[in-house]
Amino acid sequence: MAEWELLDYSSPSLSNKELSKDKALDEYLLIQKYFSNIGSAYLAEHNVDNSIGDDASVISPANNTQQINSLDTSIEGVHFSDTMSSEDIAYRSCAVALSDLAACGARPKWYSIALTIPEVDENWLKGYAQGLHTFSEEYRIPLIGGDTTKGNLSITVQVMGEVDSGKAILRSNAKVDQLIFVSGIIGKAYLGLNELQEAEALTSNSLAYLRPKAKIDLGLELANIASAAIDISDGLLQDVNLICKASDIGAEIFLDKIPTSITEKSLELINSGDDYELCFTADKDKHEQIMNISKKLDIPITLIGKTTSSKELVLYGESHTRIKLNSGYKHF
Ligand code: ADP
Ligand code: MG
Repeated sequence: MAEWELLDYSSPSLSNKELSKDKALDEYLLIQKYFSNIGSAYLAEHNVDNSIGDDASVISPANNTQQINSLDTSIEGVHFSDTMSSEDIAYRSCAVALSDLAACGARPKWYSIALTIPEVDENWLKGYAQGLHTFSEEYRIPLIGGDTTKGNLSITVQVMGEVDSGKAILRSNAKVDQLIFVSGIIGKAYLGLNELQEAEALTSNSLAYLRPKAKIDLGLELANIASAAIDISDGLLQDVNLICKASDIGAEIFLDKIPTSITEKSLELINSGDDYELCFTADKDKHEQIMNISKKLDIPITLIGKTTSSKELVLYGESHTRIKLNSGYKHF
C-alpha cells in the first residue's frame, strides 16, 4: 500500500537503527516483523488456508454454518486515552470488537486490523504486537490480515466468527413478556476509568476498562436459550432500548436489581457503558437454565426486568416509583 511510503523513516523518534539506516524496512518488513505470526497457531483449526503476506486471506467455510462479521474503530481520545500503553490499546480495541460476536452467540474464528499510526515507533509497535498476541492466545484466534497507514492513531478491528446455521442471537427477536437479564457487574469500567486517573495501582475496576473481556463463552451458552442479546457498549439503558426498538416491544427495568459494586445506583453509573457485559432476553421457563449457566461459567447473571407490549422503556426505582428517562427511550 503506497501510503506507507509517506512515512518518514529518518524521524528522530525511530528507536531502531535498522529502520533509520535502511529504508528497506518498508511496509513488507514491518508487517513481517510485527504482524505475521500473531495467533498463527490457530490458523489451521479455523480453516485459514492463506493468511498475512498475500493480497488477501483464503478461508474454507465449514458446512451448515453462517459467518458472523463485525467491525469497530477505536480512536485515540475517543475510545482510549493517550496515557494507555500500546499493549492495552491493542488488546482493548480487539476485545471490544470481539464483544459483538459474543452478543450474537458466535464462535470467534479470525480477525483483521486496519492500523493508522502517526509514525514508526518500534517500542510502540512492540507493545502493540504484544497486546495482539495476548488477545489471540486468550480467544484462540489468528490475525489474518489488515492494512497499515500513516495518520492519527486509529485501530479498526474486523472480527469474524461462525454459528450453526440459524443460531445467531439477534437484537430483533425479543418477545413481549420475557425476562431481561444482565451479566457481570455494571459500571465497573466507568469506576475503573476514574480510578486510573486517580491512582497508580491497577484495580479490578481499572482492569475492566483497560482489558474488557468479550463474553464469548456466555454467548455460546445462550445460543439456544436467549431470544435476543446485545453487548453493553453504550450504556445499559441505551442498549436495552436498542433491543426494544429492534424487536418492536417495550421493557420495564428495576433499578435496585441492577448489579453494581457500589450502593448508590446513579443513572450515570448504570448507564455508563464500556462494560461489554451481555444483556439478553429469554422466556420465563428458561430462568433456571440461565442460573445454571451462571454457576457453570462463574459469571453473575441477574434478572433486571421484563419485556412489555408498551413500546417504551420504563425504569422503576424504590417502591416501584417510575424514574423519568429522557424521551429517547420512547420510540413511537
Ligand atoms: P496490499 O498492498 O496488497 O494491500 P499490504 O502491503 O497492505 O498489501 O499488506 C500486505 C499483507 O500484510 C496483507 O496480507 C495484509 O493483509 C497484511 N497486513 C498489512 N497491514 C497489516 C496490519 N496492520 N495488521 C495485520 N496484517 C496486515
Ligand atoms: Mg493493503
